Amino acid sequence: MQTCSERSESIPLVDLKKQYFSIKDEIDLAVKRVLESGHFILGNEVLSLEREVAEYIGVKHAIGVASGTDALHLSLLACGIGEGDEVITTPFSFIATAEAISYCGAKPVFVDIDINSYNIDPAKIEGKVTKKTKAIIPVHMYGHAAEMDEILEIAKRYNLKVIEDCAQAFGTEYKSKKIGGIGDIGAFSFFPSKNLGAYGDGGIVVTDDKDVADKIMILRVHGSKQRYIHQVIGYNSRLDEIQAAILRVKLKKIDEWNEMRRKNASIYNKLLNKLPVQLSKEAGKSHIYHVYTIQIKRRDECMKFLSENGISTAIHYPVPISDQEPYKYLGYSEPDLPNSYKVASEVISLPMFPELKREEIEKVCEAIKRFINM
Ligand SMILES: *Cc1c(COP(=O)(O)O)cnc(C)c1O
Repeated sequence: MQTCSERSESIPLVDLKKQYFSIKDEIDLAVKRVLESGHFILGNEVLSLEREVAEYIGVKHAIGVASGTDALHLSLLACGIGEGDEVITTPFSFIATAEAISYCGAKPVFVDIDINSYNIDPAKIEGKVTKKTKAIIPVHMYGHAAEMDEILEIAKRYNLKVIEDCAQAFGTEYKSKKIGGIGDIGAFSFFPSKNLGAYGDGGIVVTDDKDVADKIMILRVHGSKQRYIHQVIGYNSRLDEIQAAILRVKLKKIDEWNEMRRKNASIYNKLLNKLPVQLSKEAGKSHIYHVYTIQIKRRDECMKFLSENGISTAIHYPVPISDQEPYKYLGYSEPDLPNSYKVASEVISLPMFPELKREEIEKVCEAIKRFINM
């Protein structure tokens, strides 16, 4: 029974302020340290973060860049991918995954997803490999590890590079190994709302391949190794010192935060289990729940109902990349990618962040139950 004193406070999809206030002193000190150093681009903070991330993931090299999109783009360039090449990826992702391929002049080739994991279906990859295929970009969607063993096997058979899109999955493990260090290259985003987020844009590339690392180090700073001596046309794609200093504070907490996400997801799973909704199926311990997503009928109505009840939700993502305006020229339609089209019309992402409270999750699930019984 509701009491008069019960206030109906709204529940956000993500709450970045709560996290900031929980680590405010350390963050403020880190920012101050950079401001007082007078060194803002490619200094000690970026170098230290690169070492710490490489160690965390378990790879030899990490190179800070300006965004997750750039991390993907520079990775593809470092693999020599360009005009006339094809890169296999998933249509059920943020558009940046495909954009990075297009920036190189290459063509994205979309392979449908598995309906339960939301990740690229390895069984459908081989049929799309041609003489032009140079790489596969699996996306660890929502923070859930893609089926890397099968993907690596196909890549080996056809001599393809594997670039993991890890933008939603910092700290996710696949068979006890950190993702990003499983394929040839891992590309991470530090966009503020990602599970490891900066206070602005940022990204990082991780790899064991020294040649790739060297190329990315050069590409991110105008194609130059030695100041004012340029070997190739490069980019301005650096991670800021301030962001790196902030990320070094947050990196120490990421395992704890991911664990809190997992705990929240298990509460959701338990409360939603009996309802006619499709929960995401996690294989082993391979999900950090950057986003907590379910499939539900009458999705758009549900979203409206939850919003009227003070609960923020989102759709990641409402349109498959293959159906977005710039990619329509490739000519895909629903029968080519049935699972991607189906989930695009049925997924809804519920509030998820480490500091989300049990009572809030209960409130969300109660509202979903009321909606279903309406
Ligand atoms: C966020 C995201 C990107 C792009 O990262 P930015 O840092 O915003 O450039 C790429 N791929 C996926 C799957 C993402 O979620």
